[in-house]
Amino acid sequence: MKIRRSLLLLYCLAANAAVGDSVLLRPDAVFDGQEMHSGWAVLVTDDKIAAAGPARDVSPPESTRVIDLPGQTVMPGMIEGHSHMFLHPYNETSWNDQVINESVALRTVRATAHARKTLDAGFTTARDLGTEGAGYADVGLKQGIHSGIISGPRLLVAGPAIVATGSYGPKFSTDVDVPQGAQEASGVEEVTRVTREQIGKGVDIVKVYGDYRWGKDEPSRPTFSQEELNAIVQTARSAGRPTVAHATTPEGMRRAITAGVETIEHGDDGTAEIFKLMKQKGVALCPTVAADDAISRYRGWKRGSDPEPPRLTQKRVSMKAAREAGVTFAMGGDVGVFAHGENAVEMELLVNEYGFTPIEVLRQATSGNSAVFHLADRGGIRAGLLADLLAVEGDPTQDISAVRQVRLVMKGGSIVRQP
Ligand SMILES: [Zn+2]
Repeated sequence: MKIRRSLLLLYCLAANAAVGDSVLLRPDAVFDGQEMHSGWAVLVTDDKIAAAGPARDVSPPESTRVIDLPGQTVMPGMIEGHSHMFLHPYNETSWNDQVINESVALRTVRATAHARKTLDAGFTTARDLGTEGAGYADVGLKQGIHSGIISGPRLLVAGPAIVATGSYGPKFSTDVDVPQGAQEASGVEEVTRVTREQIGKGVDIVKVYGDYRWGKDEPSRPTFSQEELNAIVQTARSAGRPTVAHATTPEGMRRAITAGVETIEHGDDGTAEIFKLMKQKGVALCPTVAADDAISRYRGWKRGSDPEPPRLTQKRVSMKAAREAGVTFAMGGDVGVFAHGENAVEMELLVNEYGFTPIEVLRQATSGNSAVFHLADRGGIRAGLLADLLAVEGDPTQDISAVRQVRLVMKGGSIVRQP
């Protein structure tokens, strides 16, 4: 009896010690998702931020582990808005060959490495927008990360995504039916069924392709009808899921916005009128400028020496129109088209090529994306939020490339990267 009681006491003490685990981060400055504050400290207890503010006002409990981070800025873990964990750069292997020739097993092995690279780069959450032929492997990847089997960001996954029958790829001879990079559906009844099926299998987000190239070497044109898009968005919404749309053409964008999607991915040929509609309906733009840049480079373009490809010139025009219309931007690069872990390329291009200030882009990647993606428990530094944090060398509000100088990554209060 006595032995049992003392064992119980020991157990309680151990449990209390685990519950009370605290870490105090003392950097030069803290970016809280909105503003920079010099001389702040951040206290983490268990998986949450317990306090953040001027260092003298943050009083850590006894036995708190103190980590001094001189010359560094602590900021919220960044949120990648558009990745494909199941793709790797197209200059290594074309999209067609990845979808057709790489097994789901191989692609999943790659995805586990991509997840680790993403987290190490300071991205503690990612919206993964389609496995491109790997079915629901992203649902399994997310489970593997969540249960601690592998290391990676918190994921919001879209499964196979939905395309209009015949509109997507890969495309080979008319005599050969090849597996497609997304799930095909047509007609209000079928798109409703497929949306429900995907939700049942575990997608957090329904992704549709609102337009695409119907044939090789032709421009994108709308795919789903207004009625089909309405049915998808309403079906997803009633199940508590947002719908997001790949769309680059004005008409594809218009239909998706009218249907009620929450974000437009790419938006390359958006016009002033379309962006005005986006602003009105509160739809955010995830511009993926890094993907446009990467694809231009893969086609042989060299920045600085070669004339700018029409694709990038058009992107400047539409980005300017979107900003003038006051559209909300979600930071997301279409990572996978280029290397995982290089997520910061999008942020650098937004500053260096598209005229955003570093702090605007830092807000997009933290508090901005948390608001657009309904992630109220993260994206900032204040008491009660998840302790998803990173420390970078220098001041990213002065030089955006400082976000590449990652010195420490914390996810849910656990240090997952430290030099
Ligand atoms: Zn994409």
